[in-house]
Amino acid sequence: MNCEQCGLGTSEWFTYVPIKHKDGKLNTYLCRVCASVSKAYCTIHSVPHIGFEDGSTACKKCIDMLATSLKEFSEKWMSDLLPILPFEDKRKLQEYIIGNSLLTGNDYNLIFALFIASKANRSGLNFEEVVEKLFKEKSTKFIFI
Ligand SMILES: [Zn+2]
Ligand SMILES: [Zn+2]
Repeated sequence: MNCEQCGLGTSEWFTYVPIKHKDGKLNTYLCRVCASVSKAYCTIHSVPHIGFEDGSTACKKCIDMLATSLKEFSEKWMSDLLPILPFEDKRKLQEYIIGNSLLTGNDYNLIFALFIASKANRSGLNFEEVVEKLFKEKSTKFIFI
């Protein structure tokens, strides 16, 4: 199969990246060269990004790394944030964290850190901006999108 971007079939490896193809499918098959310059490919970890429902993409390993480094702040953020959230947002966030913990075995602090890290890497914001936005808007809506 040829690269769906440059049309060449000579590269030694090809990979699917989560870029919407013009035929409507959610992944595009790319050669090494096209993949490495694609915005949906992580050159630090040499892996394609994972795609999200809203069309954004991010590297899973980069999210994990950032979340691990944020974990120590997570408890403070959650304890400051939960009291100021509207009831519905609070309930949704708690349900998500508890459900995710049952599913993955991760502790609550890591799950919240993953939430922040994922949103930051998908949106191109840094994590401080994501946290600031949560507190300013007193809503978790934008991280659930
Ligand atoms: Zn190509
Ligand atoms: Zn990465």
